[in-house]
Amino acid sequence: MPYDPNNIFARILRGEIPCNKVYEDEYALAFHDIAPQAPIHVLVIPKGEYVSFDDFSRTAPAEAMTGFYRAVQQAAESLGLQTDGYRALSNIGRHAHQEVAHYHLHLFAGCDLGSMIKKGLV
Ligand code: 5GP
Repeated sequence: MPYDPNNIFARILRGEIPCNKVYEDEYALAFHDIAPQAPIHVLVIPKGEYVSFDDFSRTAPAEAMTGFYRAVQQAAESLGLQTDGYRALSNIGRHAHQEVAHYHLHLFAGCDLGSMIKKGLV
C-alpha cells in the first residue's frame, strides 16, 4: 500500500489538524487518542512517511527507528506510565483493523488492562 500524504496523522504532523500533545521531538509526536479505549490512550507516530509497523521496520533508517522508540519511552515516562505499567500495541493491515495508514503505536494505561486485549476499558 503506498503512503497517502493526506492521511489524518500526516495532517496532524503538518499542524493542519490539532492534537492534544504529550511529547514531541525530531523523530516522533505523541498525542492522546481522540476516542480513548483506556483511561490513558496515547498514540506515538514517527515523523517520516511509513504506512505501518511492517513498513517502518523494513525501510526506516536505523537512526529513525532508534529515535522513534526512544520517543515512545519518553512519552510513556512523561506520563509516569512505568509506575503501574502500560501496553504498547500496533495494528497492521486489514485483519488488525488498522484505520490510519501512518505507522503508530497505541499506549494504553491507567487501569488493569487484563492479560489480553479487551474493548471497552473506559
Ligand atoms: P488504528 O485502528 O489505525 O490502529 O488506530 C487509529 C486510531 O487513531 C484510533 O484509535 C482512532 O481513535 C485514532 N484517531 C483517528 N482520527 C484521529 C484524530 O483526528 N485525532 C486523534 N487524536 N486520534 C485519531
